[in-house]
Amino acid sequence: MLKPVDYLSPTTIDELLRLIELHRDKDYKVLAGGTDLIVRMKEKIEKPDFLIDLSHVEELARIEERANMIYLGAMVTCAHIISSKLLSQSAAILVAACQRLGSPQIRSRATLGGNIANASPAGDTVPPLLALDASLELQSPSRSRTVALESFFRGPGETILDPDELIIAIQFSKPTPDEKGFFLKLGQRSAMSISKISVAGQLHLNMGRTAWIRIAYGAVASTPIRAHAVEDFLRGKSLTPAIITEAAEIAQQTVSPITDIRSTESYRRKMSSILLRRGLEGLMAAAAPPGARSS
Ligand SMILES: Cc1cc2nc3c(=O)[nH]c(=O)nc-3n(C[C@H](O)[C@H](O)[C@H](O)COP(=O)(O)OP(=O)(O)OC[C@H]3O[C@@H](n4cnc5c(N)ncnc54)[C@H](O)[C@@H]3O)c2cc1C
Repeated sequence: MLKPVDYLSPTTIDELLRLIELHRDKDYKVLAGGTDLIVRMKEKIEKPDFLIDLSHVEELARIEERANMIYLGAMVTCAHIISSKLLSQSAAILVAACQRLGSPQIRSRATLGGNIANASPAGDTVPPLLALDASLELQSPSRSRTVALESFFRGPGETILDPDELIIAIQFSKPTPDEKGFFLKLGQRSAMSISKISVAGQLHLNMGRTAWIRIAYGAVASTPIRAHAVEDFLRGKSLTPAIITEAAEIAQQTVSPITDIRSTESYRRKMSSILLRRGLEGLMAAAAPPGARSS
């Protein structure tokens, strides 16, 4: 049973920040979709006296294009992302990750801000957002700041957020049409399971060579990570089978997984290599002229 809590429901960001200021010494939590928080409250891991519900703050639920940037309010849900034409055209890897998150019921509640703030190493929306080089707009009653998503996580469940600070929005440059990407996830089942490992990649090919590539993993370290060593190795190279094999080898050395209830250290290390190979080979197969494709 949930313990009774006071419930506050602001409708604007200004009102939200005033309430946070007013209750700064109290034991409150902000409530987004509740798919993590309510579970933790039922399990008595979290016992707040107050809930400040973000779900009526309309400004937080917007998906917009602003001067070549994609702007996603923190309360945008996975279902909203999946149904967005703008995102299916410009951020397919984020859409793919949302399609693999939980069940239809979870996707209709789970928000991007909640998935990020929860700081699970296995949070599915984070690797694609890292591969898109996203940044976060953070706000508290006393300051606002923009930080790179890559610098947001400190460890499992730990972030750089101050106690009275919120994620307001997530932003990234709108990918150009010649950028390609992939998102791959391994779970216990193909649906409704937390990742054993996930990988996302976003790259720009120029004359058959990788002008740049960003690769990010989930569930292979204490936080979601960028695989900078693999990115540096691939920059300027053609994605030949030999190069992909070498990149996959480097990936295994880059990750630092653990054994837990979902998987083992050695399986995750091996799959970090295999999934990267699959992702890169898939991109090359899709980029090949029709006559050159094998079935
Ligand atoms: C059955 C089930 C299946 C699931 N499957 C998956 C899965 O496959 N992949 C996956 O990644 N996750 C999965 N989850 C976890 C969960 O659905 C996600 O982490 C979800 O995105 C959390 O978002 P929420 O809006 O529900 O957050 P909430 O539960 O409302 O909040 C989570 C935490 O973040 C804080 N918070 C929320 N919004 C903000 C904000 N804007 N600023 C600062 N702090 C904030 C809250 O105070 C709370 O501490 C699953 C959960 C369940 C119950």
